[in-house]
Parts: sequence; structure tokens; C-alpha cells
Amino acid sequence: MDSSDEYEETETAKCGNGDRIDMADKDTFLQIPENHKPRYNSLCSDDELLEEDLGYESVAPKRDSWIEDYTPFSSCQNSIYLPVTGHEPCIPKEDSDPQHTPVIKMGWLYKNPPQGSLIYQHRWVKLDADYLRYFDSEKDVYSKRIIPTSSITGVANVGDQKFEVVTHNRIFLFRAESDSERNEWVSVLQDFIGPARMRPGHELTLNPCVTSEIKGYLELRGLRSKLYTVVCGDKVFLYKNAEDYKMGIGITSIDMNVGNVKDMDKRAFDLTTPYRTFNFVAETDQLKEQWMEAMRDSIAEALSNYEVAEKIWAEPANQKCADCGTTKPEWAAINLGVVFCKRCAGEHRSLGPSISKVRSLKMDKKVWTDNLIQLFLVLGNERANQFWAANVPPSEALSPTSSSEERRRYIIAKYREGKYRRYHPLFGNQGELDNALCINVQSSDVCETLALVFCGADVNCETGVPDLPSPSVLAAFHGQNLQVEFLTLNRNTEIPRSETKVAMHPEHYIPLPSITHNGFLFKTASMARPITERKNKEEFSRRWCVLNDGQFNYYESDKNATPNGGLKMREIVCLVVNPPETHGYDHSFEIYSDAERLYLFGTDNPETMREWVKSIAKSFIPAYAEELLQQDFERIGRLRYKDPLNLESSRVGWFCLAASTLHVCLEDSHGQDSIDLQKLLELSRDSEVLVLVERGRTLYIEGERKLDFHGWVAAIQRAAGSSGDTLSQQQLTEGDIPVIVERCIHYITQYGLTSEGIYRKSGVNSKIAALLEAFRRDARSVWLKEGEQQVDDVTNVLKRFFRDIEEGLFSQEAPSWLSTTAVTDESKRISQYQHLFNSLPRVNKATLRTLVNHLYCVQRFAELNQMNLHNLAIVFGPTLFQTDGKDYNAGRVVEDLIQHYVIIFHVNQHQLKRQLDEITYIIKLRDNLNPKTGPASGDFICTVYLEEKKETAEQHVKIPATMTAAELTFEILDRRKMSVKEKDYWCCFEISEKEETERPLHYQERVLPIVHSLGVDSHLLVKKHYNMEAMLVYLASKVDMTKHGMLKFKEERSLLGLTTGSFNDRYFMLNHTSLRLYKDVRSNRPEKEWPVKCLKVYQGIKKKLRPPTCWGLTVVYESEKPEKQEKQQWYLCCDTQTEMREWFATFLSIQQSGQLWPAEWGKSRATSRSAPLDTRMGNVSLIPLRGNENEMRNSVAAFIADPLALLRNL
Ligand SMILES: [Zn+2]
Repeated sequence: MDSSDEYEETETAKCGNGDRIDMADKDTFLQIPENHKPRYNSLCSDDELLEEDLGYESVAPKRDSWIEDYTPFSSCQNSIYLPVTGHEPCIPKEDSDPQHTPVIKMGWLYKNPPQGSLIYQHRWVKLDADYLRYFDSEKDVYSKRIIPTSSITGVANVGDQKFEVVTHNRIFLFRAESDSERNEWVSVLQDFIGPARMRPGHELTLNPCVTSEIKGYLELRGLRSKLYTVVCGDKVFLYKNAEDYKMGIGITSIDMNVGNVKDMDKRAFDLTTPYRTFNFVAETDQLKEQWMEAMRDSIAEALSNYEVAEKIWAEPANQKCADCGTTKPEWAAINLGVVFCKRCAGEHRSLGPSISKVRSLKMDKKVWTDNLIQLFLVLGNERANQFWAANVPPSEALSPTSSSEERRRYIIAKYREGKYRRYHPLFGNQGELDNALCINVQSSDVCETLALVFCGADVNCETGVPDLPSPSVLAAFHGQNLQVEFLTLNRNTEIPRSETKVAMHPEHYIPLPSITHNGFLFKTASMARPITERKNKEEFSRRWCVLNDGQFNYYESDKNATPNGGLKMREIVCLVVNPPETHGYDHSFEIYSDAERLYLFGTDNPETMREWVKSIAKSFIPAYAEELLQQDFERIGRLRYKDPLNLESSRVGWFCLAASTLHVCLEDSHGQDSIDLQKLLELSRDSEVLVLVERGRTLYIEGERKLDFHGWVAAIQRAAGSSGDTLSQQQLTEGDIPVIVERCIHYITQYGLTSEGIYRKSGVNSKIAALLEAFRRDARSVWLKEGEQQVDDVTNVLKRFFRDIEEGLFSQEAPSWLSTTAVTDESKRISQYQHLFNSLPRVNKATLRTLVNHLYCVQRFAELNQMNLHNLAIVFGPTLFQTDGKDYNAGRVVEDLIQHYVIIFHVNQHQLKRQLDEITYIIKLRDNLNPKTGPASGDFICTVYLEEKKETAEQHVKIPATMTAAELTFEILDRRKMSVKEKDYWCCFEISEKEETERPLHYQERVLPIVHSLGVDSHLLVKKHYNMEAMLVYLASKVDMTKHGMLKFKEERSLLGLTTGSFNDRYFMLNHTSLRLYKDVRSNRPEKEWPVKCLKVYQGIKKKLRPPTCWGLTVVYESEKPEKQEKQQWYLCCDTQTEMREWFATFLSIQQSGQLWPAEWGKSRATSRSAPLDTRMGNVSLIPLRGNENEMRNSVAAFIADPLALLRNL
């Protein structure tokens, strides 16, 4: 580029050889001082055009007469207006410019002065997607310059608020009022250069008239020289000359939808528009005829094209670009069902016609058949976008000012990848999709067809009907012309292919049954929020309601033909039956729609309501879930759910809530399933996910829509709580025991059996009351912990619970129990107790059995707690029979039950012994631990993590004395419903954060002693043992269990609290009895020797010690001799991971006699699982996991994705 002073020229013409041709030589006489001479709207640019001295005088008289008639335009002083005759013009509204795509930027700029002048010209500059134009004033319709944006090759700042716009042969220089204004122009213009050129296959079109009807020089009266005129489509373009035409730089364009052509004298003819008349003179009569004919055709074209656009725009959603929101979009993808703006059209075109068949609403008149127009009214941007743009992240959404690059990214993602589309529930199941398509094309629902086709349904699939072999023939047979149209347009469409694989699960597509019902109901206005207050009768209006053909409509009266409103059955997501007398009308129900609206209907007649509820439910519940309809539900509907087996994608399930049972029809399970909400192990809510934990199953219900989800959450929480004061109305365990009873008994068993006078001592009244209240509110959420609760408070909570429970533990039969004590024959008495026990209700039975078992255990340890059989009976008699203590029979019953516990309850002696052994073990362990009083001591509830230590991945497990590491692992995997493959070596690790080490527990290792030896910075973690396979392979290849070799060795020596020493090479020999250390290979005598069984080997060495490699082992030696408690810790470093693995495997193999892994792990898991709860778990229950679905999914995903990550951390 040349020096800047050259920009003083108006424009610089560029020629191939770099010479510049002065284009401003004719400007001199065009300088009309604006203040002195009235300014006419000069069509022709003063700096670019030749202008006769006469100027526009020939048209001026007409102007005056016109102004009188057309006053609305009189404000436009600078324009010359002429009357319009003939057809109605399409008068543009303010700020909308029908002949051009929407303006992207406009404003006043100074254009550099023509040569010889110093006066900058004030110009109104407009930029749209197609053109950069400038005008004399903001009111002008016809520009002085029109520069296609496609011909702009560069835009640059040139200082002093100036910028230049470079085209192939010229440079236009502008000056803004400020730098910031200038920068805005430059930035917005730069968006048009570059990308368009770089795009492959993009035609470099400098002028818009690719298919012009006629072009050539025409004289325009008032101008000295002829203008090169082009009639093209619905526009007429004026150029200064043919060269300019070639370069695409014109003066103005005339939109012909407002034009009219009039024959004048001789070779003259007029093109009139509401803004101006152009007096043309052709060269010959013949040419005049041709010109006039071409212009009339152009007008016809323009008008007919507006017809299409106006029709399409009749649907309000089509008045805005489906992609960026720009108003009055003039383009459409006829196969995708969307209307969009010119700029987006460019991006659509680059997708290729196999994805987007782009047509103009104005120019491609012929394609716009009635059916196609109708299709666009039925689909339209709104409904099409409900599919195409169902999941657009706000950060990716377009706006009318988005750049080309943003548009390209978005449009590719939207239509080529289908990234934002709403996945059809059948996505991924070709057979079901095709089947659904065949069913659907027989109806008028084109939106559904769109969703099916663009989720993969094959438009050419086999219908199975011999005479109607394809979906479009099938549609035609059923008279569904729009379906035919849509299918035809998409015969060869490429279906979006997601880059990211979406795992979807099929749902059976069953057309809903057509239910018909009608009658009067009372209805309130629909709302977007839950109803919290009572609605009085005045707030309801009487409506005639009709349910027919999958549509529910309500009318002003039964005489009206036009409904006031309604909704499609398939839009209903939930139906709720309110308890009677919730509102002014005694019986009411609520309908929730997909679009998060709530409709409330009421009636005074319970029968009317029942019928409506039944009919509505029937018509929106799919056949596979219709079993649910048999329930006396308070709430029924559709929810998305996940289970831990497949956290990646959620599926649709149908749920209904009846009393405290949640009935469920899940997609892939056959038939109905139900969840007893009162028996949940856990019910927690994490923002939009409700987690229901049953034993062996966890269900995540997702809040797909806020409105109905919140209703479900509240209802499920209500149903999961205690529903009353009887035993069976409490929150229950799997074993039908009230949660409160079980929790108290567990606590007392673990911490209270040695407490003197247990159950007789009184606790702190306020604490007892508070704890009891907490249990009553939500027993499931109360966890008793040592230190937080005192044993005596807990024993009193249990007693008070039994004393207060409605109907009592013995229910109505209490007198029979009491009178049984009168039976003197012991065996008769016992059999009568058995009889009475068997006739108790389920929950009472289980509870009584559990309680007596507990009391039996308590008295077995009477020498520790001083509560013998008799003492316990005195306390529990009146409590259980809820008497005042004067009836001694109560105590006698309890005494009998405890004394004859084994016989009355048919107790397995072996199991009982085991239980007592366990208790003994616990007591012993506590005795040993108590002097130490470490923070974790005595806490039998252990926190175990899955995969990763974080709060949300933790599980609280009560560890029975007998539990092995394998059992703990199985338990945790079961709880998560983790599917386990044979070669997934799931293992429980002891992790020390302080030492930065980990040790896989041997599968037969008892967990409880480990739990009690864990320091504060240690924990248990269940994860896959990625080294196990390699270790097993290595060991299998070995003949004898020995290993020797060089290792880097370091001893932990503490000097004044500082660790000293460094890693030194030592030779090691490991055999089945000992590990020996030699100074080097040649040494005869070992420097040190340790028995292998006294070594605990951990993987890892803390970084603080600066191990020379990352393949280290930390070895702890604990001497066996109790009198000389010695503990040493030292470190071994290997050169490779394989080396380390081999050493480690050899250690373990020696210590475990070659049994590193159970031969049939899967089987042992199954055995462990099928064993009865009592034997397997020592009669303790698991405390369920916490953590939300997201975090669980992350942790699951993390280990699936990169198992090696764990190795790298070693
Ligand atoms: Zn757009």
C-alpha cells in the first residue's frame, strides 16, 4: 500500500500493474454547497457520476404535486417522491428495508473529499450482509454507492479516525467521529472478509446478477452519460459502466416490488417507485420493448415472491431467523423445515444440499408449492427448533450480530452434527424408529416425523404392507400430503451424525389409545408455578371439556366450536389427584404439561373426577406402563431416571405413587416394579436429582422439568416418612423393623452391653426427647454415633418409643399374652406364646423377635452390665405392655420370652452362638482399645471409599467382626450395583495419606482389626487392583517362591526428629521364611534378616524421602515378641515397575501361601451375596452411600476411562 497522503483522493483505482487511475476527475462540478442551493436527492453520487447541470429538474415538478397527495412522505425532504400508480407497493416499515437483508450497522461517516476539494462528505452508511452502501441522508432509499460485501478484500485502520475499505480495484476511505466508532466499523466489516474467501467451493461472485435477464447501457434522464443497467431477479441495478459492473461496484439497486413501468414518448419509459421516478431512454424502440418487458417481469417476480415470503411469515415464528434471530428471514432449508436469514443461508449452503436444501423465499418461486408453504406453517421455526435446538448452551447460541465464524460453527453443530437436537426416545434403535415412522406418517403430526427422521428413521424403510411399500406411499394413502412432502424432500438427506456417541436406550413406541370423554369441569387459569394456596370456587370457571383423539380441549360452553385452549395427551407428563377438599371444589386434579404448565380442574362430584382421571391417565400412559393404572394413585407420570449400571444416559420411566409405594414401569424391565418408600435406606435430594436407595438398588430420578419434579419430590418425601403412630406406619428396614428400633439396638449392642444398669438408668430427659423427635421426623437420617449420644439416652429412647407406640407391640392381643402367664405348664405356655407370636402382624412380629433377641444378648452379659433376666423383665414388662407397672404379668411375659427365646422363636443355635461370639469379640476389642482412646477407636462404623477419597464417594459401613476384605468389597460393589467382570480385580486397599502408601488387603483378611489400626490419616478404599493380573501371571511362571536382586534401600532413622540417610544399593534375598539384606552380591553374611511374616509391605514411598525411582515399597517390621515391641520402617526402591511388582507379588505369595486371589472370584461373590443377611453381615445393615449422581458418574467414568492413571501414581 502506498503512503497515506494518497488517500486524499476519493478513491484509488488499482490496476494490475500497480498504476492508479484517477477516478475523481469529474467531481469538480458536482460540489454543490449544501447551504446555498436546495439539495435534491441525487441518485447519482456526486463524486462518482456525471450529472447534467439540469440535474433533476425534469422530475421536480412532479414532486410537488406528489407531495400534496402523499403527505406521509413529506418529511423526507431530501428525497424526490413520485406518485405510485398501479399495484399496491409493499411499503417498508420504518427501519426495515425490504429489499435488503437486515442492517448490521449504520451511521454517519465522512467520506474522503474528492480530489480538488477539502470538504469531507457526510454520508449515511449502511452495512448489511450483502452490501455496504452509502447515502446522502438516512432517509434516502437509493444509495450513492453500493459495494457488495463479497467484493471487499480488506479493511484497515489508517489513523485519525479513518479507515479504508479495499475492494479489488478501489479503496474507499471513511472517517468516523471517534476512534471507537471507527473501530466498531472496522471490526464489523472485517467479519465479512477472509472467511468467505477461504471457504472451499465458495463462488467468488462480485456482483449479484448471476442470471440477469437483460443488461446494457440505458440513458437516465438528467445524467450526462448512460448508466450500465442490469435487470436481475426482482431488482434493477445501476452501474456507472460495464467495468464497474464486472467489479460489482454499483450505484444503487431498485427493488422492483414497489416498481411500476410506464411507456413514455418515443424511446423513453419510466420506472416509478414511491420514492422516485427513473426516466429511462433506450437506444432503439426494440430495445425499449425488451427493457420494459424485462422490468415488468422483474416486478411480477418481486411481487410473487413477496407472496411466498408473506405467507411463510404468517407464522410469527418464521419472522425471525431460526438460527440467529434476525428479522424477516428470506431463506429456508426446505428439507429441515427452518427459515433463516441471508447470512445464515450462506452457512447452510456450505453444508451442501444433502444436508440443507437452501431456497429463497423470494427467488425460488417455483419450489414453493402450496404443500411446501403449508409444511412451513405446520413446522415453522418454533416447532422445528424444538427439535433442532432443544439443547443449545447459551454460550453457543447465535444473535443477529454473530460473526460468520460463529455462525458456521453453530450451523454445522446444529444440522450436520445434530448436537442440539432433542433425541427421540427411540434413538439408536433402527427397527423401532422405522416402525414409529410408519405409524406416524399416517397421522398429521409432521413434527414427530421430523424428530424421527432426523434421529435416524429411514424414510425409505420397509413398511411391511405389500401395497404400500414405503412411508411416503403409506402417508399418501392416508391423505397426509404434508407428510409426503416432507418425506420426499428428505429422501436423500444425510442424517446428523454426532461426533460424540450418545448412548440411548430404546423405548417401545406404542401409539396411545384413543380415549373419548367429555363433560363440564371447573378450571382455573393455567400456571407455571406449583399451587400452594387453596383456590376458592370463584377462581374456577366452568368449561366444557373434551378428550378426543389424543387431544384435550376446553371450551367456553358445549355450544362453542373453538376451544379456549387445550393440550395434546402426549404433552402431559404428570397427573395429580389432590386430597379431597384441597380447593373450593372438593375434588380436584392437576395436569402438568411438557411445557411446564399446570392445569387445575375441580368438581364437586367424586365420580366425575374419578372418570376424568381415569380417562386422562389412560390416554397418556403408554401401553407398556398401563399396569400402573390399576393403582389407586395420587400421582402418575413420566420421569427420567438413571441407575448406577448406566449413569451415562437417563431413560424414561413411568411412575405412580399410591400410599407409601412408588410403582414403576421402567423401560427395559418387564412389568411393574415397586418401591416401598418407608423401607428406603436413604432418600436424598441433590438439586435436580432425587436418590432413592433400597437395599441392592439405587434409583436416581432426574428433574427433567422443574414443575412436576418438585411435586414428585415432595410427594415421595411425604410418603417415605412415618405416616402415623403405629408400628407399621414407621419407616421400616428391609426386615420390617422400625428403623428407630434397629438403630437403637445396634448402638446399644456395640457400645452399651458393658454399661452397668443398662436400661434401668435414666438418661438426660431433654436429650431423650430431642432424639426421639429426630427419629419421628425422619428416622432414616438419624445416625447414632459414640461420643454424640450416651448409651442411657439411647436406651431410654427405645423404651419410650415402645411405651408410646399406638396399639403397642402386642397389638390387640396384649391381654391374651398377659393371661398366658397363668398357664402353669411350661411347654403349654411356650406353645401358646408361639401361637400368639404367629398371629401378630408382620411388623410387630419382626420387631418383637428382634427386641427379644437383643434383650437375650443383654442378659447374657449380665456379669458386666448387672442386668439379668429378671431385671430386664421388670423394666420391659410395663414398657412393652404400656401398663403402669402394677400388673406383674407384663414382666412375666417378657421374662418368659427372654428365657425361652431360643424355643419360642425357633432360633438357630449356631447362629446365636456366632452372634454372641461376635459381641464378645467386640467387647474384647473395645477393652483393648479403650486405654488408647484414639480418635477412631471403638468406632465400628467405618468409612469406606469407592475409587477415590472424597466425601461424596464415601460409604459408611458397619464392620462386623467376621467380615473379610472380600466381603467388604462385594458389599460395596453390590451397593453400587457395579457390574464386575472376572478380570476386574476389585480389592479393598488400606491407604495411608501420611506415608503416601497403599496396601491391598488380602481377600481373606479380616477388616475389623485393620479398621481399628487405621490412623487418622488412613482410610479404606475399594478399587480395582490393576497390578493383580500381572502379579498372578508372574507367580504362575515361577517354580519356587524366592527372589533376589539389587534394590535401593533406605532405613528410617530418626535423629532429633529428622529423618536422615539416603538410598543405597543393597542385595536382597527373599525366601519362604525370611528377607535377607547383603551389602553386595558377593557378601556371605547378611547384614540384616527379617522373618517374612512380620513384614507388612506397602506400595509407595513418601516423596519427602526423595526415592530415586517411583517404584518403591515401604516395609514395616513389627517384632512378634510382645515383651519387646519393636517397630521398624524402611524403604525399597526398584528400577522398574515390573521389578517392583515381582517383589511385591513374591512377598504376598509367601505370606499368603500362594493364594493371592480366590480361584473363582465371581462365584465367591455370588455365594457371598446369596448368603442370608444375618450370616453374611453379622446382622448389621449397611449405611448407604452418599454423594450425588454427578460425582458418582465422574468417579465411575474416571476409572473406566483411564485405568493406567492409577499405575502412574504408584
Ligand atoms: Zn440468521
